[in-house]
Amino acid sequence: MLEFWDSYSIGTNSKPKTQALVSKPHNTLTLKHQSTTTVKYLLSLLIVINCSLAYAQNYDILLNDGHVIDPKNGIDGKMDVAIKDGKIARVAEEISASEAEQVIEVAEYYVTPGLIDIHSHNFHGTEPNAYLSNSFTALPPDGFSIRAGVTTLVDVGGAGWKNFELFKEQTIDRSKTRVLSFLNIVGGGMKGGEREQDLSDMDAEMTGMVAKRHPEVVGVKVAHYAGRNWNPVDWAVEAGEIADIPVMVDFGGTIPPLPLDSLLLHHLRPGDIFTHAFGHVPGRIPIVNERGKVRDYVWEAQERGVIFDVGHGGGSFLFRQAIPAMKEGFRPNTISTDLHTGSMNAGMKNQINVMSKFLNMDMKLKDVIAASTWNSAQAIKQDSLGHLSEGAVADVAVINVREGDFGFVDSRGFRMDGNQKLECELTIREGKVVWDLNGISRPYWIKEEMGK
Ligand SMILES: [Zn+2]
Repeated sequence: MLEFWDSYSIGTNSKPKTQALVSKPHNTLTLKHQSTTTVKYLLSLLIVINCSLAYAQNYDILLNDGHVIDPKNGIDGKMDVAIKDGKIARVAEEISASEAEQVIEVAEYYVTPGLIDIHSHNFHGTEPNAYLSNSFTALPPDGFSIRAGVTTLVDVGGAGWKNFELFKEQTIDRSKTRVLSFLNIVGGGMKGGEREQDLSDMDAEMTGMVAKRHPEVVGVKVAHYAGRNWNPVDWAVEAGEIADIPVMVDFGGTIPPLPLDSLLLHHLRPGDIFTHAFGHVPGRIPIVNERGKVRDYVWEAQERGVIFDVGHGGGSFLFRQAIPAMKEGFRPNTISTDLHTGSMNAGMKNQINVMSKFLNMDMKLKDVIAASTWNSAQAIKQDSLGHLSEGAVADVAVINVREGDFGFVDSRGFRMDGNQKLECELTIREGKVVWDLNGISRPYWIKEEMGK
């Protein structure tokens, strides 16, 4: 517990804290004329109780007066959010500031569950020519997640069953960000080139078995396969069946392309994930046809439960695909980045920038948030994440919606203009402030004592 003076040194942005309890022990001294031993004993007991009350706070942090968007719980309005011991303790219209150790004023902002990026590449390492598996092009999580409001990153396919342990030891166990994994159906992971074409290194049973053994494994990935058969997809689904987890498919590369309708309507199960939804790459039929219409079987697939994920990346998001689809009312189920060195400094940038694009394509803010929180949690079958229910882990993003003239760039380098941009103001991970863009959680500098 903090000492009184520590808890008092909260910034000017914080509500004044109630000190009434601190003086209460002295009130009990009015009884001091009664001089029996029992009374003295009771007195000292009272003082002890009161002193502990003086320092006790119900909550560690109170996010005060923000606009809470919590799609799972149907909340879209002004609410206070209280956090205690790394968990959401209470969400209510009015929570007294005196009950919290620290009060952060967020009246100008939106308060949402910590963002979940279900398509990322974080198996960083120093193996040469290893593409996104223990390589230089995959990114260490914490440098690129929490500053964008992301508290959970899902590495999709960096590791296969053979090198998952290394990924866990090297990245998952050392990151502040929660890092989860889709095992590549290729045992050696996403090493690039011919190593992702090797059918002899794809093993449904081993993948399923290793997936079952590790709670951090939440799916199976198929990517970049260029052969003319369905084996990798079907084996990934088999592994998914064994471990009861979804499959994510980065489809394409076969020329001429394998039929997209077969993939979406026959090979994938409801709950499996079709990523790069708005891409148009050689070897894959795009979801929007030459006349600018979303194909009938794409609608049908979404209806049968296939998850359409953005997976923006360095080459897989075109306004030519997304804008006509959005105009027709076709919405992605989940918004994600496909984060790696090839996407982060191009049009993609980060999760919240990809979300901003959809906001400017007339997707409602609450739907943009849902597609980056609760929908994402459900897609990876992690129902304990992506919401602010009482008792849930306190992963929270505080988001600013800026108005102005902004530009957004797609994977082919074309720009779309917009007048709203999301910015991550504050990120809380397991009850701790881990990102604070403008210092809204910090005391004003004058509070620091001279000479210390
Ligand atoms: Zn990817």
